[in-house]
Amino acid sequence: MTYYECADCGQLADFVYLEDSAVRRRCPVCEEPTAWEIAFADDGAGVSF
Ligand SMILES: [Zn+2]
Repeated sequence: MTYYECADCGQLADFVYLEDSAVRRRCPVCEEPTAWEIAFADDGAGVSF
């Protein structure tokens, strides 16, 4: 899971990882498409289901 942070308001969201560095998604807080930056990634190491 990769977490992204809205560049406008700092809202965190877990999007599927995209290789495109300029991610634009609709922000639920800004209520419009905004730029998202990777905040941190959790590759699932150590997690079992
Ligand atoms: Zn936002």
